[in-house]
Amino acid sequence: MNPLRPSIANMAGYVPGFQPPDIASWIKLNTNENPYPPSPKVKEAILAELGDDAALLRTYPSASSEKLREAAAALYGFDPSWIIMANGSDEVLNNLIRACAGEGEEIAYVHPSYSYYATLAEIQGAKVRTFGLTDDFRIADFPERYSGRLFFLTTPNSPLGFAFPLSYVEELATRCDGLLVVDEAYADFNDCNALDLVRRYPNVVITRTLSKSYALAGMRLGLAIARPEIVAALDKIRDHYNLDRLAQAACVAALQDQDYFKKRRDQVVATRKFFVTELQSLGYTVLESAGNFVFASPPDRNGRRVYDGLYARKILVRHFSDPLLAHGLRISIGTREEMEQTLGALREIG
Ligand SMILES: *Cc1c(COP(=O)(O)O)cnc(C)c1O
Repeated sequence: MNPLRPSIANMAGYVPGFQPPDIASWIKLNTNENPYPPSPKVKEAILAELGDDAALLRTYPSASSEKLREAAAALYGFDPSWIIMANGSDEVLNNLIRACAGEGEEIAYVHPSYSYYATLAEIQGAKVRTFGLTDDFRIADFPERYSGRLFFLTTPNSPLGFAFPLSYVEELATRCDGLLVVDEAYADFNDCNALDLVRRYPNVVITRTLSKSYALAGMRLGLAIARPEIVAALDKIRDHYNLDRLAQAACVAALQDQDYFKKRRDQVVATRKFFVTELQSLGYTVLESAGNFVFASPPDRNGRRVYDGLYARKILVRHFSDPLLAHGLRISIGTREEMEQTLGALREIG
């Protein structure tokens, strides 16, 4: 007897962006990481938690991540009962599907966006539906009423970088019978967000991550903001010690150092503007981006050729073989120097 569930045996599994073992010798612009280190307070908090002999590591961390929820609640203007912390926002996306979509029930998301939603749904045996985009970046053929259990909306969108207007997100909330999960992994780089919709619509959930804007991808920290009933349900099904002690210390320190956070975010946004202008002067078509990356196509619309040219120069960007995306590249915004080197390489590649 094959011990595996057929759906697990047959699924392909998600392929994350490549993390080269000799990471320091690359200009790494493929997974939208932050080019700057996290706040210096993060290191201080981790060292303080470790102490001289790491004795605290003998003991379990806070199961409720109470201090983190208080810090996030203060920052976003909610009661802590509306916040759940996660081991990366991927964990809370998974738990939203586990909580809401049973075998054979439907979830949906926009293609192109974050295809990991599909993998998570497949694990549950849920059905997956995708909606395409119109030329003006609205959802194609979205029904007057969508009756699936969950609809995932990535805004700002990755890999394309555009953000849906808030009025449109609100309209979608009114058209969803189930939850509208607004994946705001990149919202910190945009000038608006959907936090207010969580207060006003019982079916809106927001997910955030500290991986990108807080430069903490390596600590695995994310969160969701939702009605207390939904938070309570998610709380029941997560691993009870989902965040380790060092991650908890890092999270509070990072969220509380807003001066540092804003300084770095503004640097990334300024570098993005510089990079877009320079790319356009090389003849690239660049979509307007509200994230810490851009989606750009070379004049010959051969993304793979440019990917290979950059790879040969130890510059790693993201190329998607999907026919909707193969003409371009998703390029994360690094430091100003890294982007200047990348532009130099693009000039050589032609
Ligand atoms: C990076 C990313 C995530 C995952 O964030 P983690 O907190 O690192 O798990 C989720 N959604 C989108 C759209 C992302 O780009």
